Amino acid sequence: MNVSDSEIVASILTDNGYENTPEVTLADIVLVNTCSIRENAEDRVRKRLHYFKSLRKKRPELIIGLLGCMADRTKTALMEEEQLLDLVAGPDSYRHLPQLLAQVGSGQKAIDTILSIDETYADITPVRIDSNGVSAFISIMRGCENYCSYCVVPSTRGQERSRDAGSIVRETRDLYEKGYREVTLLGQNVNSYHWKNGDEVITFAHLLEKVAQVSPMMRIRFATSHPKDISDDLLLAIGRNSNLCKAIHLPVQSGSNHMLGLMNRKYTREDYMDRIQAIRRIIPGCAISTDIITGFCSETEEDHLETLSLMEWVGYDAAYMFKYSERPQTLAADTLKDNVAEEIKERRLTEIIHLQQKLSLDNNRKEIGKTFEILIEGKSKRSDDQYFGRSSQNKVAVFTKTNAVPGDYVHVKISGATSATLLGEVV
Ligand code: SAH
Ligand code: SF4
Repeated sequence: MNVSDSEIVASILTDNGYENTPEVTLADIVLVNTCSIRENAEDRVRKRLHYFKSLRKKRPELIIGLLGCMADRTKTALMEEEQLLDLVAGPDSYRHLPQLLAQVGSGQKAIDTILSIDETYADITPVRIDSNGVSAFISIMRGCENYCSYCVVPSTRGQERSRDAGSIVRETRDLYEKGYREVTLLGQNVNSYHWKNGDEVITFAHLLEKVAQVSPMMRIRFATSHPKDISDDLLLAIGRNSNLCKAIHLPVQSGSNHMLGLMNRKYTREDYMDRIQAIRRIIPGCAISTDIITGFCSETEEDHLETLSLMEWVGYDAAYMFKYSERPQTLAADTLKDNVAEEIKERRLTEIIHLQQKLSLDNNRKEIGKTFEILIEGKSKRSDDQYFGRSSQNKVAVFTKTNAVPGDYVHVKISGATSATLLGEVV
């Protein structure tokens, strides 16, 4: 999500005569794009800002700005009290950056953190930063109105709004023509995507089919799906189109109904299991990944065991696993107690991570002997003689180079596996 926002910012600024540099010591302006989802992300941003402030001691003309989710909440502390910033712009204010920078140029501090009800940056063609030239992100909606009790997103990124479907298809086509072979459609809850084109209502399933038609050689991924909204229609669309990737990220957060209720997730363990069964039925061979929060308010050992047992039942291919961290201006911060001791959170997280490593390894070992179509992304980190790429199921495969190049599809027969990687040879 943040990479996608930074690419929009880069586009707005290059259109206004600025240039992007990968070397921070050469920059005249440093804009730090931020996320408030977990507290440690905020701590890292603060450290970076102190580093940039040290650069400004040597070069007083350096402009330092803060963008994104942290902007509104931390502007007073970071700008006025700690003197770390010249400019603050919230996630819906990027179009105003040229004016805000001009204001800083004339000696004033600049702040704009007003959230919008309709900004989607639909007309802005992102400038791809650090791109491998093969895969790209496309933001299809902004904001969120689900109000999961632990989550800061509804307060930092505002109301949910969907982007013009035509502009999403055009951006995909443009990327295809530039040689890209994979796009990931991004939103906090892509399943509630909704766009009205005259009398035609475009749901997420319709949008996926339209994007899939750009080219059968273009792979389409998406994130994130909320379990309460993942419909059979959507699963059927994925099943029908070979270039809609067979990998679904379906964050469960907890396996306990008590926790799911307190989290305001609006589904039960049983509802979630029903959706997993639907995925297995409609899209055989589909990989499933998830997000898990451990140590949420009043979580007991039984709740924790329910999370572990659900993980085993699903047999996730991958998971992002977090300790709960209380965020300001959330329902949980206002109404619940963050009362699970830190060492218990740590221990539960370790158990969850260990279980996931075992599940990932078991799943990857089952792939040995099978052949997958792999989209080559680039050279493997370990060896210049090897490429790495991904299967439709989003599994990374490493294999000896042939005369194929990044962006090509090759068939790779799997001969070995770790919990994170498949190893094989082109056949
Ligand atoms: N919109 C997506 C997730 C966005 S945030 C969804 O609904 O699934 C990404 C992940 O961060 C969440 O799925 C959750 O697992 C984690 N997360 C969000 N807030 C958190 C918090 N306060 N503490 C710990 N993890 C959190
Ligand atoms: Fe946060 Fe829930 Fe919205 Fe995801 S769906 S962004 S977790 S409020």
